[in-house]
Amino acid sequence: MKKIFFTPGPTQLYPTIPRHIKNALKNNIGSISHRSKEFQTIFAETVLSVRKLMNIPKTHQIFFLSSSLEAMERILQNTVNKYSFHFINGEFSKKWHQFALDLQKKPEKYEVEPGKGFDFSQVQIPQQTELICITQNETSTGVGIPLSDIYKLKKNYLNVLIALDIVSSTPYPIIDFSKIDMTFFSVQKGFGLPAGLSVLIVDNNVLEKSSGTYHSFHSLFTMSQRNQTPETPNVLYIYLLGKVCQDMLKKDIMKIRKETDTKAKIIYDFANKNQLFRPFVKDKKFRSPTTIVLEVIGKNSEEIVSQLEKRGIIVGRGYGEFKEKHVRIANFPTHSIDDVKRLIKRLIL
Ligand SMILES: *Cc1c(COP(=O)(O)O)cnc(C)c1O
Repeated sequence: MKKIFFTPGPTQLYPTIPRHIKNALKNNIGSISHRSKEFQTIFAETVLSVRKLMNIPKTHQIFFLSSSLEAMERILQNTVNKYSFHFINGEFSKKWHQFALDLQKKPEKYEVEPGKGFDFSQVQIPQQTELICITQNETSTGVGIPLSDIYKLKKNYLNVLIALDIVSSTPYPIIDFSKIDMTFFSVQKGFGLPAGLSVLIVDNNVLEKSSGTYHSFHSLFTMSQRNQTPETPNVLYIYLLGKVCQDMLKKDIMKIRKETDTKAKIIYDFANKNQLFRPFVKDKKFRSPTTIVLEVIGKNSEEIVSQLEKRGIIVGRGYGEFKEKHVRIANFPTHSIDDVKRLIKRLIL
């Protein structure tokens, strides 16, 4: 039976991936040297395509890492001497804070219950803070923080760096990079690639703050100027990411964003009307359009997940403590409106 994955990463592969993998094999992408002209061309093309798709200005550099957990760690390692500040409302934001502790920093945090957003105006960030860390789309709970709130916060702390985890929302949000110092995403969420590559975007002004070894900002920047990476990278995925970005540009990214809104509305409307489900995030303002978490009423969510699985539809289980209470549904560019309608039909049965 053909399966479709609505899991919030890894997820259903973007429809053009098999074709691009075939071409990659034909062109020996798995064997070429990462110091060759061929690789440099691939690197430059992918950077350009990511830039175009996300409208990233020349003020920001694009680097490749192996995962977004690595991105969290590298950001702390490169830019924080002691004091980071973390907004926590779920498992991924919690991890980021934990990494700061593990790295022997002195992080502070502002924590709300899972499923809640933040009222930034209520929070006093200590003066010595060097970096503010925000998980813009908390995949574990389905909370999306409006970018306008984040920009307002940054305006009040212009001398503090701000880093955004946009792993499970990109390429949906339109980001104003003049207001964000660092941001990152993994390719196995919104881009529909297999997992194993992360993209880190860094403001030029931050580059002088560099620390660490092969993935210090200095090392990443120096190599990227030659269209290379410090290590032997995941050449295949860098190639695939460029191709998928080009496909999304061809389809029209604004159309993809509109479709995302349409699909999110279908899923939330269904949950609001149905007796068995309700959106876990109560405040509409904070409901993520791209990772939708539904609370299952009066039933173990595991039952629903496994029933769907028998019909070839794979949804996410609840995260951590919510394993048997939630289902999580990804609404990424790889999922068509028809796919979502099919999912809803199956959820009713
Ligand atoms: C998936 C995810 C990560 C981790 O990404 P990896 O590629 O597994 O390192 C980090 N933050 C958020 C919000 C995520 O959804």
